[in-house]
Amino acid sequence: MIKMRLARLRRLLAKQKLDGLLVSQPANRRYLSGFTPADGQLGESCGSLLVTQRDALLLTDFRYMLTAQAQAAYYDVRIYRQGLAQELAGLAGRLGIKRLGIEAEALLLDQHQRLAQALEGVDLVPTRGLVAGLRARKDPEELRQITASLALMERVLDQVLSGDLVGTSERQLALKLMRAVEDQGGEGPAFPPIVASGPNGAEPHAEPGERVIQAGEPVIFDVGALVMGYMSDISRTVVAGGLERADEQFRQVYAVVRQAQLKAIAEIRPGMTGSEADALAREVIAQAGFGERFGHSLGHGVGLYTHEAPSLGPNSRDVLEPGMVFTIEPGIYLPGWGGVRLEQMAVLTATGCRLLNGLDRFHDL
Ligand code: ZN
Repeated sequence: MIKMRLARLRRLLAKQKLDGLLVSQPANRRYLSGFTPADGQLGESCGSLLVTQRDALLLTDFRYMLTAQAQAAYYDVRIYRQGLAQELAGLAGRLGIKRLGIEAEALLLDQHQRLAQALEGVDLVPTRGLVAGLRARKDPEELRQITASLALMERVLDQVLSGDLVGTSERQLALKLMRAVEDQGGEGPAFPPIVASGPNGAEPHAEPGERVIQAGEPVIFDVGALVMGYMSDISRTVVAGGLERADEQFRQVYAVVRQAQLKAIAEIRPGMTGSEADALAREVIAQAGFGERFGHSLGHGVGLYTHEAPSLGPNSRDVLEPGMVFTIEPGIYLPGWGGVRLEQMAVLTATGCRLLNGLDRFHDL
């Protein structure tokens, strides 16, 4: 897999007339090399890749030497002692690098200045989304890992939804979800779980708090697991205490969101742009009079990160291709009342969406 990924990257480098690419973004680094360590705080790095047409080097420091050698089999591991910039300065001449691509989204200004100073005579060319574009189309191994991550998350969510929600706090449920992901063998949650009850559900990214859930309230669950480095992302909205306690508003809003979701799943095709895909669901919601209350994108790619390419949003020009994995998550949010969001994950095939989900947990209206 790594070999194929490198070959795809090298074709891109040739097209852009770059002699090499310095890969500092952690997910890109892992994707291209197999080297898994995560960077610490902002400004810290556990290594960078230098990829040219002929060479593949993993530049890191002493702390990661053994891991790098064990994990990055296709790479020549080099331990820098005076930092990345100095190491690169030595290498650039030897490897004949005159135009070096750097990742504009991943490099701090400080790091860029150090590189510019050390690499005299080398043109540092900012690139955007180069490796992210490769990562958008998943290979079979990645698809298996994403599916495993989603299956684990669904088992956990199903268990929690089988229990009593009424009388429990959002925070208690969030903790339960996080613990269960680890108990079931996941590395942890992909992101802090969202449990938003009643009016709190009107904020799409509400933080779970001490609020105690009341019967008849809608509760949004938006959760994901991290399994073997890969993320999942799923949302369900349920009525605490059962659908029979729901108010009329819920029935109306829920039906519209679900209809929008099903339409998008049925009609998204390869070759569409992200904005065309988004419009499929957005039109349903707008026609029902809730256009202003669907303030986020329809979906996003999922893989080594929870949010990655492609974007399925009103402004997205990303072209959807077979092999891409993304969420389909329309929502309606009414301040003072609450919200409904339903999220599925799909892989795009030559003919359309194939859902990766096994869990139902939809209200049947
Ligand atoms: Zn999502």
